Amino acid sequence: MEIYIHIPFCVKKCLYCDFLSSTADDETKEKYVKALCDEIKSGQNKIESVSSIFIGGGTPSILKAEFIEKILSTVYDNYIVNSDAEITIECNPGTLSYEKLLAYKRSGVNRLSIGLQSAHNNELKELGRIHTFEEFVENYKLAREVGFENINIDLMSGIINQSLESFEDTLKKVVKLNPEHISVYSLIIEEGTALYEQVKRMDEEGINIRPSEDVDREIYKSTKQILSSFGYERYEISNYSKAGYECKHNLGYWTGISYRGFGIGAASYINYGNEAIRYKNTDNLTEYLNGNNTKTEIEKLSMDDMISEHMILGFRLGKGISKSDFYTKFEMQLYDRFGDVINKYLANGFLIDKDDRVYLSDKGIDVSNYILSDFL
Ligand code: SF4
Repeated sequence: MEIYIHIPFCVKKCLYCDFLSSTADDETKEKYVKALCDEIKSGQNKIESVSSIFIGGGTPSILKAEFIEKILSTVYDNYIVNSDAEITIECNPGTLSYEKLLAYKRSGVNRLSIGLQSAHNNELKELGRIHTFEEFVENYKLAREVGFENINIDLMSGIINQSLESFEDTLKKVVKLNPEHISVYSLIIEEGTALYEQVKRMDEEGINIRPSEDVDREIYKSTKQILSSFGYERYEISNYSKAGYECKHNLGYWTGISYRGFGIGAASYINYGNEAIRYKNTDNLTEYLNGNNTKTEIEKLSMDDMISEHMILGFRLGKGISKSDFYTKFEMQLYDRFGDVINKYLANGFLIDKDDRVYLSDKGIDVSNYILSDFL
């Protein structure tokens, strides 16, 4: 199984952010770490072996290093963590120091995921990020000095006033640093965020500040081209890595491994083979700090639900769905279940069937939402 730990604190709210995160004082952070450790202890499952731990947020690197050490040692005391487990912490430039990075390393963290988003300071400003590109480079070099050999950099496309050229320039600056992994997600402007209001105001004045869908599509194509020329493989719709550096934790999500989430709003998924359960922790910070962690959105998944999820998540992966793996998991042949749909998309070149695997072609990726809905 995998473990996810949510740290819901940030230096300040980015303009586009609708994640469960907020600013907080030192006392609240300390209380939260205590409540989190209590929750981890109450998970009491020493028999399950853990293949990955992901400390996400928010901005986990905002916490004092000793808190991260405390959280991880609580996990080690209460779970069997595999010796080759991937242990990631999400960091934001501007919140890292040499001492913090050393403490992460000491406590077993072996992968950093750094939120850069753009190499252009004007775009970072549009997003309301707290850092500049130069601060990111400084932090990145520090991480290498400390000895981190597995680093992901998060980038964003579709930023206000971003052009194809400025995105490509970001990409080229980032590959020069030679990270092992790069994620590129499109900016989604969610209702309720400050950016949503800003864009709405501009729209009302007839000014379009968002890159067009054509630019977004060009960015997507160019990302794959540029990154593959530097040795990165697109192994998932939005994720690229050097060989052997795919994110184990996310691969686990996409292939249906059980995970337990700790902290406010964290989701858990327990896979029992022929059925599964999914639920979320309370997203109320005050309740959580008082030890009142009511589970919400409890959902029981039948075998049919699990099969649908297997298809939807599997097609996000570059390697797609393995026919033999499908048989092992569900005791039925992939083609007996989905032969009609698969054959339809094979015929028009949206799917490819090769060496035990069925996966989306490049042209299939462009219309993936449409294709995936056929597997529900
Ligand atoms: S750093 Fe991430 S979680 Fe924090 S406000 Fe910005 S987008 Fe949201």
